[in-house]
Amino acid sequence: MNKQTTMNTDKRFSSFRIGCHLSSSDGYFAMAKTAVGIGANTFQFFTRNPRGGAAKPIDPDDIAAFLAFSKENGIGPILAHASYTMNLCAAEARIRDFALNTMMDDLCRMEYTPGNLYNLHPGSHVQQGVEKGIELIAGALNTAITKDQTTWVLLETMAGKGSEIGRTFEELQEIMDRIEIRDRLGVCLDTCHIFDAGYDIINDLDGVLEHFDKVIGLERLKAIHLNDTKNPFKSHKDRHETIGDGYLGIETFRKVINHPALQHLPFYLETPNELPGYAREIALLKTERTGA
Ligand code: FE
Ligand code: FE
Ligand code: ZN
Repeated sequence: MNKQTTMNTDKRFSSFRIGCHLSSSDGYFAMAKTAVGIGANTFQFFTRNPRGGAAKPIDPDDIAAFLAFSKENGIGPILAHASYTMNLCAAEARIRDFALNTMMDDLCRMEYTPGNLYNLHPGSHVQQGVEKGIELIAGALNTAITKDQTTWVLLETMAGKGSEIGRTFEELQEIMDRIEIRDRLGVCLDTCHIFDAGYDIINDLDGVLEHFDKVIGLERLKAIHLNDTKNPFKSHKDRHETIGDGYLGIETFRKVINHPALQHLPFYLETPNELPGYAREIALLKTERTGA
């Protein structure tokens, strides 16, 4: 008998990696079980309290239970999101050092669950200028990224709120150009953020992705944040909306999850929802998924 038919009874969803942001307060195993309970096969979480501070110590039993459960249930790749407050290009050295130490600690912890994704907001240059910001971010990443790490470090595309760096693909590429070890370096594309930043994914998703490919290279794209937006094109506000209820609309998400250049990637929802809302969005997106 053909191996493919015995392994995959429902090919339609088998390669659709979809999940949402979950609370990490009860640990990895709890998150994986919650994910399965809402129809997800992956998830995102904060590495520590978003306001910063110490992360919970790694619990080896929790990690072991998570790894076994994930393998059995086909969970992953999971995406750890760095604290929003972690600013690698802050003006004050003390704040930059804190951010760098936080990131290095996060990356150490990530190796307990090898081969997954770590996403960060590049930073806000706070009146030092984009060039200075890029230099500081690249310097920090060069200190933190090691040759033998298995974790992918992803820079997130930003809305361009305030002095955020990463509002254009060119800015992300300028950072990446300066990183010495690039084999575990990539990008996480946020649908709300890029529309807010001025990339028209409603009318020209193909053109936006072609531009991404030209500037960064689609092979660097490793994850998608699926968020609708409360604000019109180019607002630079970064306010997420539930799927289909904002300016992007369900039609845009149908195109995004089924696009030949994107459909193999993991998708993570960061919409304003509790678990039942996420379960509904995941179910909705599964019905909109047409590709293999
Ligand atoms: Fe983010
Ligand atoms: Fe995001
Ligand atoms: Zn956002």
